[in-house]
Amino acid sequence: MKTAHLIGSPESFPIGKILCIGRNYADHIKELGNETPERPIIFMKPASSVIGEGDQIVIPYYSHDCHHEAELALLIGTGGKEIPAGEAMRHVAGFGVAIDLTLRDVQAEQKKKGLPWEIAKGFDTACPLSAFVPAASVTGPQDLRITLSVNGAPRQDGSTALMIHRMPELISYISSIFTLEPGDLILTGTPAGVGPIKSGDLVVAEISQVGRLSVTVR
Ligand code: ZN
Repeated sequence: MKTAHLIGSPESFPIGKILCIGRNYADHIKELGNETPERPIIFMKPASSVIGEGDQIVIPYYSHDCHHEAELALLIGTGGKEIPAGEAMRHVAGFGVAIDLTLRDVQAEQKKKGLPWEIAKGFDTACPLSAFVPAASVTGPQDLRITLSVNGAPRQDGSTALMIHRMPELISYISSIFTLEPGDLILTGTPAGVGPIKSGDLVVAEISQVGRLSVTVR
């Protein structure tokens, strides 16, 4: 079982659903040539895809184009259904750094055929994740800098201020479809600058006030 660690808390959260938001930053939508969605695009990764600080990414044999997507992750501490946006942030126990690894070639092929994305998004090691800082320790979570570098070279540099669908709205919308439970995670989408990683790379994602996550590629 995979668990999320909340810094300073003796409690550890068994990871439940990992709900990911697609196309939530305008500049990233533009770079992939996608349309801006009216409602948040939701897909899931299984808990088995999670790896931690210092772990290794293993790119599956059926892909030749694995992309990094640095994202702010929310750890749900209090569950709920049909959560009003005005109460949504009270359900968040902590904030973490995640990398939504995406097999871009496989995803493009699946999209073209109208097939689901799981094999492009949910494979083993597809969800590097940091420990979580308590929500109360972060001021202005909707205005945090997100960066990602590969072998020290900057690739992504954005801000959570640029989200199209903001966090309270995301939580409210998601909870109208899926009951949220403690230990569920929400990955809130990625800013521009996504790109390929390859064997031997060192990938470092960082979010101000939240933390730093470094992983390597086998
Ligand atoms: Zn993503």
